[in-house]
Amino acid sequence: MAVRHIIHLDMDAFYPSVEIRDHPELAGRPVVVGGLSDRGVVSSASYEARKFGVHAAQPMVTARRLCPGGIFLAVRMDRYREISRQVFRIFHRFTPLVEALSIDEAFLDVTDSTRLFGEPAAMARQIKATVLHETGLTASAGVAPSKFVAKIASDMQKPDGLTVIGPNEVQAFLEPLPVEKMWGVGKATRATLGRLGVRTFGDLKRIPIGELERKLGQRGAQMQALSLGLDARPVEPERKVKSVGHEETFEQDIENVAAARKKILSLCTRVARRMRRHEIRGKTLTLKVKYSDFRQITRATTMAHATDDAVEIFSAACRLLRNTEAGKRPIRLLGISVSRLELPGQGEQLCLFEPEHSTRKRRNLNRALDSVIEKHGEKSVLPGSLLEPRP
Ligand SMILES: [Mg+2]
Repeated sequence: MAVRHIIHLDMDAFYPSVEIRDHPELAGRPVVVGGLSDRGVVSSASYEARKFGVHAAQPMVTARRLCPGGIFLAVRMDRYREISRQVFRIFHRFTPLVEALSIDEAFLDVTDSTRLFGEPAAMARQIKATVLHETGLTASAGVAPSKFVAKIASDMQKPDGLTVIGPNEVQAFLEPLPVEKMWGVGKATRATLGRLGVRTFGDLKRIPIGELERKLGQRGAQMQALSLGLDARPVEPERKVKSVGHEETFEQDIENVAAARKKILSLCTRVARRMRRHEIRGKTLTLKVKYSDFRQITRATTMAHATDDAVEIFSAACRLLRNTEAGKRPIRLLGISVSRLELPGQGEQLCLFEPEHSTRKRRNLNRALDSVIEKHGEKSVLPGSLLEPRP
């Protein structure tokens, strides 16, 4: 197979960097962005703040203790999205094959762009320079023949890094790296690998495949292939949305079922509205509950037909709530997500019968609500009558 050229680009400390760009007087100060309440968590910390041990997903209380002189700022998601769009537009100038991994991270397949823009390493330098020039922000890049290696490479020399791994250097590059560098591998898998004496990709590639498969199934074989640098996964420009969801950690634990329902209603309303905005419907509903002791459970159900209706989603969620310990145990977090999605244009024609009158009426009502909320904000419409679940 012909060699592919993949660049993984990752903005450096994206949220704090945007804040510093918008408030230049903060340059050089330890900036921490996240939830500012007592129960908030750190979303992202500037490199200055990281020197104090502050990192993403850390409780904000801990961050404040570690870095008393820090600048603590609330998340301004709309602003980060705006800059993100600007950055992605730059990526698209170099290749149409851009796969977003998150708001500030993407794979670019530049195999067919080299004739226009030069060698992949030169292209990565040019992309970084353009991003810096047009947004004032730095990115780190990894250039490699596969997504797997490119992603690991971009992380090697952060911030403002550029790491190029040629096709013949892949094995030597991976050999000494700890298997933790393999993204998407859970704690349990890592523990299993640890028990097998596997610390590095070098160890992983030398373990007899039979043993790996016995312990980890097919996943074991896949991981060994990656440790050998074998990764043919293509860069997929339009990653399909797999689920639409929303979750919330509460300032105070939720003690009773009625309060839990109220929160769930607000989550369902938001999720349904987002689905309608994107003309998506979904069939499977998942309720996530995290109790105050951090134990987390999920309950799922499949609905009779795909829906984007808040009332239907809410009713199903309330049924799921009965299979939890809501009311008996304090709840710290609730989440709702809808999956098995039908995207615009799909599914509708499968519905052989006209929706019954009441459904159609509610669909119109939903549309009306959406336009009010678009104009006047979430709080303007309180679907109080929806508080009681349908039988
Ligand atoms: Mg980043």
